[in-house]
This record gives sequence, structure tokens and C-alpha cells, in this order.
Amino acid sequence: MDFDVLTIFPEMFKPFWEHGMIRRAIEQDKISASAINIRDFAKGRHSPTDDRPYGGGCGMVMKPEPLAAAIRAAKKKSPSSKTILATPQGRSFDQDLARELALQEGLILVCGRYEGVDERICNDFIDEEISIGDYVLTGGELPAMVIIDAVTRLIPGVLGGVDSAEKDSFSGSLLEYAHYTRPGSFEGEEVPDVLLSGNHKAIENWRLEMSLKRTFLKRPDLLENRPLNKQEIKILEKWCLDLERIIQA
Ligand code: SAM
Repeated sequence: MDFDVLTIFPEMFKPFWEHGMIRRAIEQDKISASAINIRDFAKGRHSPTDDRPYGGGCGMVMKPEPLAAAIRAAKKKSPSSKTILATPQGRSFDQDLARELALQEGLILVCGRYEGVDERICNDFIDEEISIGDYVLTGGELPAMVIIDAVTRLIPGVLGGVDSAEKDSFSGSLLEYAHYTRPGSFEGEEVPDVLLSGNHKAIENWRLEMSLKRTFLKRPDLLENRPLNKQEIKILEKWCLDLERIIQA
């Protein structure tokens, strides 16, 4: 997967490429990543990438010519890539969208700044507009990093067996179970016995019950319209019995 980020702050991406999973994925040739400076495509003595908005009003708007030239250059380098604009007005980014994007050959991520980009860029050069949440950031660089991170960990072989993405929160519409590591006793709190039992079936059941419980308590919306399997129904029935017992006591 090729990631080409178009930004006026390419240096922001250096530490991002050079750490953790992204660095490993680059080293293993699972992804290629480059940050292209939009300013390099600007004409004129001061290489301006923004200008005042037609019709007046506050703020600046990113000029279309440098953006168009930068997108064309990225497309020439990665012709099959999908071009994405980070914008608070776009489709909400979630795990389903990350999975969709992970199937692409490449992504060209356009980072806006100021009041955003000239509308003609959105109309003629962008395949999809994506928002990482209902709040407004100062630029598209953090959204681009969020998208790259979430998509990269879904590329086969990137996480390997170490921390597979299949059990992550949202992968089966449930939040992930609780995790524990050494020591077994920490400030008076013990690791649940079942995790020390070596009984894989019991551990699997405990984890499923934990996932259901957390989802019910933290994000009940995820359980709505989600079909339950036999094992999950059994767990819920056990809860009902437990609750009845508590109420009657
Ligand atoms: N005036 C724009 C509006 O109201 O829609 C907001 C512009 S914002 C200050 C500057 C840039 O940050 C945007 O062009 C976009 O690239 C990026 N950005 C800000 N919030 C974002 C979000 N929630 N998701 C994705 N990109 C965002």
C-alpha cells in the first residue's frame, strides 16, 4: 500500500514514519510512505499556497493550482491510488471504512489548512472526503496520520501474530475484553483466576463475556441490531438469572 500525503508541513510526518508499527511496515515493504510538500508546486517568489476568500470573510483558503499540481504528481507516481481529502465535512472514519481503505492499492491524503481548500479541488480531484470526528482541527495532518495508522494495522502481515487486529474492539461489533499482564497482584488487585488457569476454553468464554459486558456498559449502541450467536445468548441468559437472584434476595 502506498501512502502519499500532501501537506504544507511534511516535516510533521518524519517522526510518524520513524516509530513503531509504521516504521516496521515500511522496513518490511508492507507500505511505502511519503510526505509531499504542496509548497513545492506553488509558483511565484514566495510560493504562496493560500489566498483570501472570494466574497470576503475571515481566514485564508488553500489555492487550487499548487494542490492540483501536487495531486497530479502523486497520481503519476501512484496511478491506482484513491485520493482522499481530510475534512470535518466528510464521511465519518470508523473501523469499517478503515477496512475498506485497506483494500486499496494506495491512498493520496490531502491535508487542508486555514479555512480549507478551494471547492474546485473537492469537486474535480477528490475521490472521498473523510472526517475523523465531529470537531475541527487546525489541519489535516493529524487526520491523515489517524487514517494511515488504522489502515496500516489492517494490512495482512503488519501486526502478525503479536497483536492481531481480528480481536480488536469493533472488529466483531464488540469492544475488546480486558487485558492483564505481570505482576499477578498489583496494589491489592488480583488478575482474574481464569486467566491463570491454563484452560483455553474457559479463557475464551471469559473474554467473550467480558467483551459483551463492556460493550453493554460502555457502548450499548453497538449491540443494537447486532445478531447474537448461541454462545452470546447463553451468556445474556445467565446474566438475567443472576440479576433475578439478586433482585429476589
Ligand atoms: N472551515 C472548515 C470547516 O468549517 O469545515 C474547517 C477547516 S479546518 C480549520 C482546516 C483543515 O483541517 C481542514 O481543511 C481539514 O483538512 C482539517 N480538519 C479539521 N478538522 C478535521 C476533522 N475533524 N476531520 C478531518 N480533517 C479535519
